[in-house]
Amino acid sequence: MSCDYRALANAGVQKLTPYQPGKPVEELERELGISDSLKLASNENPLGPSPRAVQALGGLLDQLARYPDGNGFALRQRLARELDVEPECITLGNGSNDVLELLARAYLGPERNAVFSAHAFAVYPLACQAVGADLHMAPAHAADHATPYGHDLEALAARVDADTRVVFIANPNNPTGTWLDGKALYDFIRSLPGTTLVVVDEAYCEYVEEADYPDTTRWLAEFPNLVVTRTFSKIHGLAGLRIGYAASSPEVADILNRVRQPFNTSTLAQAAALEALDDTAHVQESVRVNREGLAWLTAACRERGLGYIPSVGNFLSIDVGREAEPVYQALLHQGVIVRPIAGYGLSRHLRVTVGRAHENRRFMEALDQVVGA
Ligand SMILES: *Cc1c(COP(=O)(O)O)cnc(C)c1O
Repeated sequence: MSCDYRALANAGVQKLTPYQPGKPVEELERELGISDSLKLASNENPLGPSPRAVQALGGLLDQLARYPDGNGFALRQRLARELDVEPECITLGNGSNDVLELLARAYLGPERNAVFSAHAFAVYPLACQAVGADLHMAPAHAADHATPYGHDLEALAARVDADTRVVFIANPNNPTGTWLDGKALYDFIRSLPGTTLVVVDEAYCEYVEEADYPDTTRWLAEFPNLVVTRTFSKIHGLAGLRIGYAASSPEVADILNRVRQPFNTSTLAQAAALEALDDTAHVQESVRVNREGLAWLTAACRERGLGYIPSVGNFLSIDVGREAEPVYQALLHQGVIVRPIAGYGLSRHLRVTVGRAHENRRFMEALDQVVGA
């Protein structure tokens, strides 16, 4: 007898559509038979990881028969020192994506809901649906707002009810690059009931140079329902190793540590993350390259009369003035991989990661070929 193994899956899982990652360079080159292609699709650091992190990895390869330190002692100590919190407040994850899923697994489920904004990071609805929670999506600011497509805190607050266990806020948000200032975010968190966790996803915080951008880890002592997530995938250039973390109250961290896999972060990832934190020169250089590249890309858009969503991250979502999917496809044929974001409700935008100067130029030249034609 044959069964319908799709229909047998949990109800929430049946409705999932998989996360669509940026197209890997190897895949494009295999499909088109080309070489020398350029990927600006996953907000990776164009400078790569810290050379110190790479060097540390080499010395560990003969230890790979051993399990990692499941408690991540050294890295949690180091992060605690960095953030001025207790090590018991830190939960390590296989990327911060892992931590977001741990939060959903521990705090969400049927009869509970999560609140997030339209155009927010796609992992939030995925993680929530997988555990059968209701999704409360709030409308974002309009296209002509001062923060186009950005999070509308009033609209988010209005979607919170007694069954809301988590509000997800990305600051800055991906794929819009929009951000929330300290006063607005602080007042929002203070207004929430204690029964609602607020997860502030700071995957791109190191890039933000605005004076009013908050370091929310400073508020952890005041708000036991606050969870801040960060990652080594973006500015630290370690996306391939998969390591990120949450900083929270010790109570929330205790719960997350009960549901995580015992060895969810590898020996290599923990060691590389430690080195990356110490290499402040690499971080500073990454910020500088990004600042210049973002300024160049936005100026190039203005020269061409192309709209874009003002961004404080390491990416820019550009309004190509027509349905973006065919533009994306045509760029692939030029060997340039960017990210279509129709799945985020932005079908005329393409998100491009800020690269090094020659990479940004190559992208713009390819875009000129495609949309100028
Ligand atoms: C990239 C990204 C993450 C994290 O990715 P990991 O590689 O899993 O750490 C989290 N949130 C946002 C908004 C991102 O863009």
